[in-house]
Amino acid sequence: MPFNATILTLYPDMFPGPLGMSMAGRGLEDGVWTLDVRNIRDAATDRHASVDDTPAGGGPGMVLKPDVLARAMDAASPEDDTRPRLLMSPRGKPLTQARVRELAAGKGVVIVCGRFEGVDERVIEARNLEEVSIGDYILSGGEPAAHVVLDAIVRLLPGIMGNDASGSEESFEAGLLEHPQFTRPREWEGREIPPVLLSGDHAAIARWKREQAMELTRARRPDLLEGKNRDEKA
Ligand code: SAH
Repeated sequence: MPFNATILTLYPDMFPGPLGMSMAGRGLEDGVWTLDVRNIRDAATDRHASVDDTPAGGGPGMVLKPDVLARAMDAASPEDDTRPRLLMSPRGKPLTQARVRELAAGKGVVIVCGRFEGVDERVIEARNLEEVSIGDYILSGGEPAAHVVLDAIVRLLPGIMGNDASGSEESFEAGLLEHPQFTRPREWEGREIPPVLLSGDHAAIARWKREQAMELTRARRPDLLEGKNRDEKA
């Protein structure tokens, strides 16, 4: 069974976009995963096809209407659909590699892309939407966030990654950032590849990689070592 992704968006032309290229695009062609893109505006009912309205209590911008979004959701993901329903949102739980692994192990995902100031709170509750953030900054819409979430999931699907081992050594997989990488030539602009990597001594190489990973993590992301944002293996 392929992994089934459904996207609800006001900009369906943004998909598959980058997900139609490279590994993800090949997987889409090969049927490893499927993509169902729905235009939220198709669920509008008034003659202007309006999807948003002014915020209750005042304030800037517009808010996605709950009735329209719910109708779009119900058409794309009926009640017996057990796939997780994610709402891209800067207020959400920050995405982690552990959550990505869980999602990739499931049968699919429904992703709602917000726009404007966001969506009416009641539809988040009523349709059981899990708010997911891709970082502490504000995008103009949820579409780039949906690309990020799906890209991270799809590369883990069986049959996508060329070299399966390359999945397990990446940053975060062991709760650490990855060690530095080098390739030929051996010397470039006067800079050498660290000799240990060319020594053929596999134990020494493994030790070097571990030490480098520890050092980098301590310098750049001490929070990972303190276990604060620890990404435990799912
Ligand atoms: N007024 C909101 C921001 C709205 S940004 C607030 O202050 O919280 C418009 C839309 O972009 C959001 O509905 C969401 O779908 C998407 N978005 C913006 N930043 C995001 C982030 N960091 N992660 C995931 N989605 C984001």
